[in-house]
Amino acid sequence: MNAKIRLFVEHPLGPGQSVPLTREQAHYLFGVMRQGVGDAVLLFNGRDGEWRAVVREAGKRGGVLGCGERTRELMMPPDLWLLFAPIKKARTDFIVEKAAEMGAARIVPVQTEFTNAERIRQDRLQAHAVEAAEQCGGTFVPEVGSLQKLDRVLADWPAGRRLMFCDEVEAGANRNLPANVDAGPWAILIGPEGGFSEGERKRLAALPMAHVVSLGPRILRADTAAVAAMTLWQQALGDWR
Ligand code: SAH
Repeated sequence: MNAKIRLFVEHPLGPGQSVPLTREQAHYLFGVMRQGVGDAVLLFNGRDGEWRAVVREAGKRGGVLGCGERTRELMMPPDLWLLFAPIKKARTDFIVEKAAEMGAARIVPVQTEFTNAERIRQDRLQAHAVEAAEQCGGTFVPEVGSLQKLDRVLADWPAGRRLMFCDEVEAGANRNLPANVDAGPWAILIGPEGGFSEGERKRLAALPMAHVVSLGPRILRADTAAVAAMTLWQQALGDWR
């Protein structure tokens, strides 16, 4: 039988490996998806690629799968972080989901001066990244970081990581990603609904690793801007080439 259901598990995966299910996974597989003993499922854990597995035991509160053969190698996304200022709940969920689909290696919520959100539900956002990977055929799940102050993130900026600073003030200006720049570690920065403060703009512009980029002549909402920026980057420097 052809396995269509893809499930993320924490457990190591390998030939003959038994994989116990959590209560939620058992509920999803057997209760919601109506799978039973003998049915095939695709598993990935973000490290060992994707494996075909067969249901060995199915119960209300748990179950066990048995791994068969590997169906896909682990495919790492490029070393791209998405830094974004959390906005309203549904739009923040959207940004995390799209970042996972588009191939971000890490998702970093940052608190800027004009960010309204004081806290985020990191576990819920991480679950959105897992779901997006399950759904898009990914074998890797980007980690969603905790909410950090932008100042802090910039103060600890890793040497060698370039920053694509999407600045709404540049709307309509002809500022693209530089053509002659290397791939390698990068980050994209998207601001909140209120945009960036003058102080932040100055600080970012002074960062030697920063490249100010315009996302066209219109001001995009932050969630649109995140997807547009990732598209540009993937096309120019990432794994779409
Ligand atoms: N309230 C602000 C807009 C913020 S848009 C204003 O009216 O000026 C939210 C974020 O999306 C911005 O901080 C920026 O990171 C990004 N963004 C939106 N449109 C953009 C554009 N045309 N060029 C570059 N970045 C843009």
